[in-house]
Amino acid sequence: MYKILFGGFSQETNSFSPVPADRNAFEKRRLFFGEEIFEKIQGEENEVNGYLDVLQKCSDVSLTPSIMFSAGPSGPVSRDVYDLAEISILNVIRENGPFDGILLNLHGAMVAQDHPDAEGDLLQSLRLEIGRDIPIFVTLDLHANITQKMVDNATVMLPCEKYPHTDCFELGKRSAELLLKTLRGDLKPVMAFASVPYLMPLFPTDLPPIVRFYQLADEIKRKCSLVELRIAHGFFPANIPGMGMAVLAVSNGDKQTATDAAKTLASAIWEGRESLKRTYTPLDDALDLTMSGRVKWPVVLGDGSDNPGAGGPCDTTHVLRRILQRRMQGTALAVICDPKAVQICKNAGKDAYVQIALGGHSDARLSGGPLSVYGKVVRFVDGIYRNRDEMEKGLLVNMGPSVVLDISGNLVVVSSERCQVLDAEGFRSCGIDPEKQKVLIVKSAVHYRQSFGKFAGALVDLALPGYCAPDPDIFRSLGFHLG
Ligand SMILES: [Zn+2]
Repeated sequence: MYKILFGGFSQETNSFSPVPADRNAFEKRRLFFGEEIFEKIQGEENEVNGYLDVLQKCSDVSLTPSIMFSAGPSGPVSRDVYDLAEISILNVIRENGPFDGILLNLHGAMVAQDHPDAEGDLLQSLRLEIGRDIPIFVTLDLHANITQKMVDNATVMLPCEKYPHTDCFELGKRSAELLLKTLRGDLKPVMAFASVPYLMPLFPTDLPPIVRFYQLADEIKRKCSLVELRIAHGFFPANIPGMGMAVLAVSNGDKQTATDAAKTLASAIWEGRESLKRTYTPLDDALDLTMSGRVKWPVVLGDGSDNPGAGGPCDTTHVLRRILQRRMQGTALAVICDPKAVQICKNAGKDAYVQIALGGHSDARLSGGPLSVYGKVVRFVDGIYRNRDEMEKGLLVNMGPSVVLDISGNLVVVSSERCQVLDAEGFRSCGIDPEKQKVLIVKSAVHYRQSFGKFAGALVDLALPGYCAPDPDIFRSLGFHLG
């Protein structure tokens, strides 16, 4: 019988974000211990359910859950949460071990107070506890910043490969299968890593300039008979030493081949890095396009600079301000997070007209400031829905009690929690038919493309001021210093 410990500790850190990642933030998303993990994550197509899908079918595997902690992307994780995660996993090892293998879902771009390389430190602690011989397999986000410490203390680390991240469940399955093969003696995994010191903008993986690197990875993998050859994109707002892109190669017992393959692919990416730049549509051009008749409705605007899925406060007002200045109608925006505005609407009641200073409270310099609006309270919703499409499919989303406002013919969802509406279900759950709008605005950089791409006439990525400007050059131009 193979005894396997599994768990997860995941948060993407934007070191500049004013949004705290304290215990409260984790309690809102996931702060689960032991057996409750099974029940709490039912129905979600995530990495851990990928592990379970493979391992629960094996009669020779005994599974021990440890913890599953996650918070929305935000500032550095508080010291108490990091300590709680580390000691909780160590305690499960001490009380229920020894284990034959460990499966962990981490992000890879987590920064904690006093732990700039949070995943590296966590893996080192686990490695010290269990020794060198027990395999530790780790699933990572595509945006992981891979460090030498992470590589030194994990047996195999695999980032997902798609952006939008629609392959998390498959990634979990793949890692569990490889761990099983290792335990059964059918695989002797050897991992090599090569960093690419390039800070890439947020880059959808179906765009041609990056597709060619994935094709090259496939060629090298086949030629060298590798088990895996994967590219981590890195996450520049984490702002830690050594961040950027990286290549991870896994071979069956052949260190040199894995090392050479990782270096070959990393060199090719470095040489071709100029192709991995993006251009963004200016806001007025994007709004002109929506009304030009050249593309069918709805046109979806991705305001990635305030993406709560990258640490944004989710309350900037740039797009709505311009829409109202231009006297446009027929747009729908989800969401602006402003709990005080929700309360004012509640006090006023359904069908009432309210005058409010909406959003923009997070930061006067970047947010655009509060927007003075006069609107009708159309309806109240509980803000809870389940994603329907492939990106984070099945995930139960909670944007908190929310209100739909009609502001001069535009529907604006005001929420009481930050929420990246990356699934069209976010609009439907608020009584808004996304397919009947002219323009949809979401605070999402890339993930929205999967769900909205099914029916949108065009998807337009913006790069406005905000804590999550999707490009390192634009980020720097806003006054952020990337070390
Ligand atoms: Zn990611």
